[in-house]
Amino acid sequence: MNQYQLSSIPVKENYQKVMTEAVDEFEKYFGVSLYQKTCIIFLNSRQQFDDVIGRKTLPFETAFSSENLIFMMDQSVYESESNKKFNLESDLLTVRHEVCHKFFRRLVWRTQPVWLNEGVAIYLSGQLKNKQPVVKFNNFLLFENTNSIDNQTVYDESGFAIRKIVEKFGKDKFIDFLISLRGISDNKMVYPKFSALYGFELSYDNINNL
Ligand SMILES: [Zn+2]
Repeated sequence: MNQYQLSSIPVKENYQKVMTEAVDEFEKYFGVSLYQKTCIIFLNSRQQFDDVIGRKTLPFETAFSSENLIFMMDQSVYESESNKKFNLESDLLTVRHEVCHKFFRRLVWRTQPVWLNEGVAIYLSGQLKNKQPVVKFNNFLLFENTNSIDNQTVYDESGFAIRKIVEKFGKDKFIDFLISLRGISDNKMVYPKFSALYGFELSYDNINNL
């Protein structure tokens, strides 16, 4: 397998600006700062994506977050190497999404459950406006350590569920909930932590009835 070397990185000003603004915004939102500067690396093929991430990535996956790095499929190969149409506005929202993952990890000290990490990133990045609204929640809690199961993905419901919780009970309580998850050893421990803070069980029925 080839190893990769970056000799020079031409700056894409619009991506740089969105990334910088997102870092500033999420610093204020979460009340924490990142230890390292974030850096976007544009990749030029699906093979590079697989190599760098370390697994066979799915056709819809065009961005990935690792430590302080954000890997994104370059616009020049985006449509040939994924099953999505390139759209600059939504790709820039993806930058915000990936930056949000870094703050989640900084605040919560973990990246799971996936539905919570993805839900927060989808909601705070602004990606919900491009998604089909959810009428009834019935699958997001399944995604504890994976982002897709058969033909369902964590991206359909999780952002709407997080929005409902935050808009109903406020941001401060939600941040307290996230902080309460520091140090848990099992995704199942999210349930008692949620009940302890919100006073009701985390279930589809309860979220649907909010
Ligand atoms: Zn994500």
